[in-house]
Amino acid sequence: QCLIKDFETRPSVTHLLEHPFIKQAHGKDTSLGQQLSVLIREQQDVGNRIKTRYILPTTQTAGQNNTVTSQHERINTRKTLIIESCPDDDLVDLEVLDEETIIAHLQRRYQELQIYTYVGDILIALNPFQNLNIYSPQFSKLYHGMKRSTNPPHIFATADAAYQSMVTLSKDQCIIISGESGAGKTESAHLIVQHLTFLGKANNRTLREKILQVNPLVEAFGNACTAINDNSSRFGKYLEMKFTPTGAVMGAKISEYLLEKSRVIKQATGEKNFHIFYYIYAGLYHQGNLKKYRLPNKTAPRYIDCINGKVMQDIVSSKLYEEQFDAIQDCFRIIGFTEEEVNSVYRILSGILNTGNIEFTSTSSQHQSDKSEVPDSEALDNAATLLSIGSEELQEALTSHCVVTRGETIIRTNTVDKATDVRDAMSKALYGRLFSWIVNRINALMCCDGRITGMNVGILDIFGFENFKKNSFEQLCINIANEQIQFYFNQHIFALEQIEYQSEGVDASLVEYEDNRPILDMFLQKPMGLLSLLDEESRFPQATDQTLVDKFQDNLRNKYFWTPKRVELCFGIQHYAGKVLYNVSGFLEKNRDTLPADIVVVLRTSENKLLQQLFSSPLTKTGTRIIQLSSHKLFKSRLTVRSVDTMEMMRHPEETTNMRRQTVASYFRYSLMDLLSKMVVGTPHFVRCIKPNDDRQALLFNKERVMVQLRYTGILETVNIRRQGYSHRILIEEFVNRYYYLAFRAHQMPQGSRENAIIILQRAKLDNWVLGKTKVFLKYYHVEQLNLMLREV
Ligand code: ATP
Ligand code: MG
Repeated sequence: QCLIKDFETRPSVTHLLEHPFIKQAHGKDTSLGQQLSVLIREQQDVGNRIKTRYILPTTQTAGQNNTVTSQHERINTRKTLIIESCPDDDLVDLEVLDEETIIAHLQRRYQELQIYTYVGDILIALNPFQNLNIYSPQFSKLYHGMKRSTNPPHIFATADAAYQSMVTLSKDQCIIISGESGAGKTESAHLIVQHLTFLGKANNRTLREKILQVNPLVEAFGNACTAINDNSSRFGKYLEMKFTPTGAVMGAKISEYLLEKSRVIKQATGEKNFHIFYYIYAGLYHQGNLKKYRLPNKTAPRYIDCINGKVMQDIVSSKLYEEQFDAIQDCFRIIGFTEEEVNSVYRILSGILNTGNIEFTSTSSQHQSDKSEVPDSEALDNAATLLSIGSEELQEALTSHCVVTRGETIIRTNTVDKATDVRDAMSKALYGRLFSWIVNRINALMCCDGRITGMNVGILDIFGFENFKKNSFEQLCINIANEQIQFYFNQHIFALEQIEYQSEGVDASLVEYEDNRPILDMFLQKPMGLLSLLDEESRFPQATDQTLVDKFQDNLRNKYFWTPKRVELCFGIQHYAGKVLYNVSGFLEKNRDTLPADIVVVLRTSENKLLQQLFSSPLTKTGTRIIQLSSHKLFKSRLTVRSVDTMEMMRHPEETTNMRRQTVASYFRYSLMDLLSKMVVGTPHFVRCIKPNDDRQALLFNKERVMVQLRYTGILETVNIRRQGYSHRILIEEFVNRYYYLAFRAHQMPQGSRENAIIILQRAKLDNWVLGKTKVFLKYYHVEQLNLMLREV
């Protein structure tokens, strides 16, 4: 069945057309007149995927039809023809360009299991919802250093292009993966890391192994099962892979953004807590270690008891969880965590689960009403033991708090509700800091704590756009982050390109696109943007959900914001990706995210080194440093500390000086800016993940769902601008400097003049370029051609 075997020598065109396989594949459609389009279509089963290969002769001189000459062909050593390309790999090459055609095109490709399609230099990835055999090392080899058009579109090709650009141009690169929840961003990020690790062949095998463990480890702590995705990222991740100037991988560094800590204490119906809790439960159960970590073996702890009662059995009998636990143990070991550290991590996780089981009841005494106490001390004692703190001190910090008024310190009791809130705030803080610590520790173990300088490829994988039945503060943050990424995409693909045409006097037609800047401004502007208003309201102790909605309503007067008439305490936002209704209940509390100082003080008395580290030397709101305390000084210490904000302490001290407010919203804004500042230094490559259906079913292509995603990501406009536009704009001087080898001798060092730029462009035989006032304007495919030529010189 294999076509390649049939040709031991280069076949002629007529020869090819007479071949029964081609006749069968193309029937009457195949004619000599079509020879500039598809000539051969070979279908070969590769696992469960049909691989389609094409021959595309692009130049053929009359009378020479005994040879197929094509820039797409490759003759291997055995003189057999292996050509894989397809005219419909790139939407830019489509003759008819409208939504219908694009959809039909993607649908046909999807049904043929061609999940990847290009829009010029942008990759569209449709989630296949099944395992495809197209990610093995053989495929990495196939895509290594190849031109985009040589092979069918692939995520490896995008990773490869970023890597080749980095090495050739000595410039940082950045791959931005976007798409809604469940569209395949995280999977794509893994595949990119896999290919980059293959490319950056370090002599050091251990390092490669380490890098491949980073994602699984971080995701065990940061991902969870949601209504949409069983492995949903509940944090944003920017992974920088560091390389030497020659392209050998040196290490990796992760930056994490906005972990959804509230999941630790509560999950929506049908959703689960972070994976790691289930992994350790199943793992420790099978090791016979539940007792050691004081985890109950009959009923699952409240924080993970989300599937009514049956849960305990489900968790411990899950083979998957048990295997994942083993995998995580391996990750820790390979990356280089010590046994002591891993043990501390398990103790803290078990401590959190036990903390969640602490119950409070109300007692009233003669002097104090609304006092809470812990009637059954088992969970309290367990938590205290696991966290290596005093049980009494913990109880005291949960059920009472210090107030400093006019220099006097008064201890007030907590109501049951307040004690419960403090308990949950403690669990969230413990988990949030543990997560940050794991990320920092990984970075340190990868020797990438800022000391190494080199080039890098950054990979952005954040939580996707979300629209649930009930959307809260978490969804708002997630969707604003996505709004920002979309804005960045628009800036790169449309705005910057068009602004430069005008300023450089280049005549190119402008493409209209949906600019989401007004929505972003509505969120981020100071002082009247939604986040600033939320912060302002969070500062009023008397504020309520209603006053918050009123404040929004009074100040946000634009078409992107509305308050529905019949639904209370809600507001709607017209996001770039659709309308979302948010429920404000809990917004203020979530935004304040305060952790009482009393709790911090107790946790800092821990004899567990890791825990001490998590809560060491934070700054209070007033800037006073909390002094390390031993437990007997506990009471005294309460006189000196005030409320300490969780977010404040997550920051590094130098960040603190730039940050005056400590709410989640302001930290979020800061994180977004930090993320952008990392992204903008690199040349961007975009991967747009699309979810073909909401049922997670293979081969099911829901036209409407895909249409919506194509619309809001502006794919049609992107096709247009990639077809008409000049996506690469390089200063003439820089251009000559970079590519003069293609036309001059190395020692000549030509001047960066227009004339010399033209000589290079002509020698390189590029077409359709334009010279602006100060810049060379190139099509997306020119740069690839130039870089390939450069490598060959
Ligand atoms: P979220 O925003 O919720 O984190 P996401 O975009 O990161 O979503 P993924 O977790 O990457 O989504 O993908 C969801 C699921 O889709 C995966 O668990 C996997 O089952 C399937 N999937 C995605 N991409 C692929 C692929 N290339 N091959 C096979 N399955 C895939
Ligand atoms: Mg994800």
